[in-house]
This record gives sequence, C-alpha cells and structure tokens, in this order.
Amino acid sequence: MRKKRVLVTGGSGFLGSHLCERLLAMGHEVICVDNFFTGSKSNIVHLMDSPYFEAVRHDVTFPLYVEVDEIYNLACPASPIHYQHDPVQTTKTSVHGAINMLGLAKRVKAKIFQASTSEVYGDPNVHPQTEDYWGNVNPTGLRSCYDEGKRCAETLFFDYNRQHKLKIKVGRIFNTYGPRMAMDDGRVVSNFVVQALKGEDITIYGGGEQTRSFCFVTDLVEGIVRLMEQTPDEFTGPVNLGNPGEFTIRELAETVVDLVGSQSKIVHTPLPSDDPMQRCPDISLAKRILDWEPEVPLREGLALTIAYFDAVLKTK
Ligand code: NAD
Ligand code: UDP
Repeated sequence: MRKKRVLVTGGSGFLGSHLCERLLAMGHEVICVDNFFTGSKSNIVHLMDSPYFEAVRHDVTFPLYVEVDEIYNLACPASPIHYQHDPVQTTKTSVHGAINMLGLAKRVKAKIFQASTSEVYGDPNVHPQTEDYWGNVNPTGLRSCYDEGKRCAETLFFDYNRQHKLKIKVGRIFNTYGPRMAMDDGRVVSNFVVQALKGEDITIYGGGEQTRSFCFVTDLVEGIVRLMEQTPDEFTGPVNLGNPGEFTIRELAETVVDLVGSQSKIVHTPLPSDDPMQRCPDISLAKRILDWEPEVPLREGLALTIAYFDAVLKTK
C-alpha cells in the first residue's frame, strides 16, 4: 500500500488519538492538528517518537496550509459540558472548520472524512435511526450549537461534493467510549466509571429511562477507516457508525457499579434540556457497504475502560 500523508484534525482528542495510532500502524504519515481545547498531549505522547508523526497546535477556524493526501476532520468538542462552554466557538469550529478543511481538500485534491454525529437526528421520532431520517432538532436550544453546527457541516460537505466534485465521506458517529476519554469530560461513561472507582455517588440525570447505544472505540475507528478506504469514492455516506445494542442509562449505571464492585449509591439529578430520550443506530447500511459491525460487547469494553481510568487515578 502506498504511504499516504494524512491530516487528522482533533487528533489529540479521544477518538482522534486512536485514529492517529491506527493510521500510523497502517504505515501512513500522520499530521495531527489540534488546539488542545479538550484534547491533551498525554493522548499522543506515545506517538511522538515516530518520525512519521507530527503534532501541530492550530485552531481549525483559521485557514491551514499543508500538503496532504487525505483529511479526517474530527476537530470539535463532543461532550455537552464542553461544547456548551463557548457555544459560539462550537458553531465556528463546526462551520468555519468545515469550510477551511474543505477548502484545503479542494486545493490539494484530498479525500475528506467528516466526523458527524447521531445528534443530527436530535430527539428522534424514528427508532432506530436510519440515515434517511431528517431528524427532530431544536434550532435554538442549549445543544443547538453542536447539533446545528454538525448539520451545517454536512450540508457543506455535500455541496463541495456536488459543486466541486470533492471526494467526501460522512460518518454519523453514535456514543463511543473507551480509554483516553477525558476524566472531566462529563460524558456518561467517563462520569459513571470515575464516580464508581472513587466510591462517589453515581449521578443519573432524570429517571434514567433514556437510552443510548455505546460503541467501543476500536470498533468505531475500524468503521471510520473502512468508510474512508471504501471504493468507489462515489459512496459518500452519510452512514451511521455505532453499536446497535441499546441500554437505558440506569442499566449502564448498574453495570458499571457491578463491574467495579463499587459501594457507590445511585442518585438522580435534573435532566438537562433537550436531552434525547432514545438513541440507537440502524447500521444496515454500514453492514452492507462496509462489511462492518461492532465486535466488542458493552461489558468487555467497560472493563477495558475501567482498567484505564483505574490506572490514571492511581497516578494522581
Ligand atoms: P474530544 O473532545 O476528545 O476531541 C475533540 C478534539 O478536537 C480535541 O482534541 C479538541 O482539542 C479538538 N478541537 C476542538 N476545537 C478545535 C478547534 N477549533 N481547532 C482544532 N482542534 C479543536 O471528542 P471526541 O469524542 O474524540 O470526538 C471527536 C469527533 O467525533 C468530534 O467531531 C465529535 O463531534 C465526533 N463525535 C464523537 C462522538 C463520541 O461519542 N465520542 C459521537 C459523535 C460524534
Ligand atoms: N448522563 C447521566 N449522568 C451523567 C452524565 C450523563 O445520566 O453523569 C446522561 C445524559 O443526561 C444523557 C446520557 O447520559 O441522557 C448520555 O449523555 P452524554 O453526555 O454521554 O452524551 P449525549 O447526551 O450527547 O448522548
């Protein structure tokens, strides 16, 4: 296989760092671009020794000039507390970031992947969610900066494809978890695991009957890479990438407490506004086109995640 020079934006984040690792293992040269808002150098320090890895501090809302063969655009805070911290910057990251990376892809004739999200479906009326469902999204709420930013980014990707014949791949990622999630990230898996390991109360927002589908990070990265490598390039997506196993948040809390063997109590706090009630991907398209489906069951992935956070907590 020809060695490609690949740009990964958001490469020092949770998913980005696993993707950089995977692309290096495939024999490619990787340029990781990140402004370190939610990413961290500790996620990529083990890659720094490679002569084929380069880390660049850069904010994708500003233009970037590099010569690359492929681009994976992952830059964007993904956890509600982080993307709501500076919502205007979140929209700029999704929209200006997409415009800058698409402009770069057009100039250098690179194929480009967009990390889209199940949030484009909002609080869905169709269950499980299929790619042809247009979603139920509040355009003015607390989650809108992320949801509408990602929806606009998809629009830009498809317009660059139609207008400029750019090779695009759009993956709609559902809740993914695993080692290197940030400890203070605020997402449900990292929160519950850290709370259980510390013996603190497990905070369920609302009654805990809302559902999510959790994909282990290695499965997700495999799906992303297959989508990018899939030919012919006329297959643009959007394609759902996630684990169709659906659990209530209460079930997740009980499983984490059980696996950790923790004494933590479950407590309930108010449900944030616009929190989707159910979410589960229909992955028939990914199965058919990419011959892909997740392999890591929830308990196995959680055990690996618990081992990671346990090791991190012991260094503190
Ligand atoms: P993350 O917060 O760990 O990673 C995002 C990375 O982007 C961080 O390293 C952050 O510093 C960087 N970043 C943010 N704004 C930037 C900017 N303006 N310029 C440059 N870098 C910037 O989150 P993640 O879970 O790794 O998510 C990665 C991508 O996947 C995001 O685009 C997210 O929307 C998407 N996604 C993730 C999930 C999930 O469950 N993890 C689900 C759906 C979509
Ligand atoms: N959640 C929870 N307790 C927490 C963090 C999250 O009950 O400590 C709930 C949250 O309200 C949501 C689900 O878990 O219903 C998933 O939240 P997360 O922030 O991980 O992702 P998203 O809502 O974007 O799917």
